[in-house]
Amino acid sequence: MFKKELEVTLHKASADQVKPKPDQNSLGFGQFFTDHMFTMRWNRNNGWHDAAIEPYHSFAMDPAAMVFHYGQAIFEGMKAYRGKDDQIFLFRPADNFTRMNQSAVRMCMPRFPQERVLQALRAMVYLDQEWVPRAPGSTLYIRPTMIAVEPALGLRPAEEYLFFIISCPVGAYYAEGFAPTRIYVEDKYVRAVPGGVGNAKTAGNYAASVKAQVEAHDKGYTQVLWLDAVERRYVEEVGTSNIFFLINNELITPPLEGSILPGITRDSVLQLARDWGYQVSERRITIDEVVAAGKDGSLKESFGTGTAAVISPVGELCYREQHVKINGGATGALAKRLFEELQAIQFGYLDDAHKWRVRVG
Ligand SMILES: *Cc1c(COP(=O)(O)O)cnc(C)c1O
Repeated sequence: MFKKELEVTLHKASADQVKPKPDQNSLGFGQFFTDHMFTMRWNRNNGWHDAAIEPYHSFAMDPAAMVFHYGQAIFEGMKAYRGKDDQIFLFRPADNFTRMNQSAVRMCMPRFPQERVLQALRAMVYLDQEWVPRAPGSTLYIRPTMIAVEPALGLRPAEEYLFFIISCPVGAYYAEGFAPTRIYVEDKYVRAVPGGVGNAKTAGNYAASVKAQVEAHDKGYTQVLWLDAVERRYVEEVGTSNIFFLINNELITPPLEGSILPGITRDSVLQLARDWGYQVSERRITIDEVVAAGKDGSLKESFGTGTAAVISPVGELCYREQHVKINGGATGALAKRLFEELQAIQFGYLDDAHKWRVRVG
């Protein structure tokens, strides 16, 4: 499948290409980029080639590059953590690359050699290690991306692709405390349909979701909770996170049936909750069941899961004028325990029972 073993060349940034480090206390999200990036190219004749770790740079691209017109673009989101004894870790990175290859297949883009690219990523993070921030809870966010760059306007899979990885130091998500969010249950716009691309991390899904996000913001909500596109009844995801409900002692999350992104944090939460003896269900759940459980008091907690925030507690849901407060609007005990456990594993302070950590360097 891969024409020959991919060789990765290394061009270190010269002294005048090295950038000043941003203020560690105002990193925000995705605003400052490190000194290096990884790139490689694909075409039909040569497969993946020209792989290199290089100084961070911009690209020159033909205006006819197919990504600009038909949107063949996929990406991933992962992090490097500076933790115990100043060691740097990645969290389940092979799962990100496996998922990216699944996205590639769905979008008729070429698969890439995961192990070689993971090796290159580790080398890149090692080279940029001074960019992995030290402030508590802050991390290096990593963005692998693949786009179609062949200049052509016929609609078909492109025959040339560019793969790159950039990274940026990001601040602790909960700089002002682990605060629950207010969520708007979206019953006008939808995110993904059965048979569509909801389970691929492809750029168009996010472009399509911005309108609902903007309208929810204008109404005073942090995020939208998506319902299924056919009946507008079944809960799907919240913003760009997977969603969980704790009803009595049952921890519920919607099943992976094609319209939901298979989150790695979701999978980690399912595993930990099983380890801890919760009754865990991947099953369909209607918004009516959630609202009813909110009213009769059996809905104990709700939270979103994703790489950026890890665990994002939901304090209130608004569905068609009905307001459901969850756990009195405060962070629940399970959300807190999961957040602390996952962070402790990611930063290297806890035993890694499931072999999720990968050390850099
Ligand atoms: C990336 C993403 C998630 C979370 O996935 P993680 O692997 O946990 O970061 C959930 N939903 C959507 C739509 C996403 O894009």
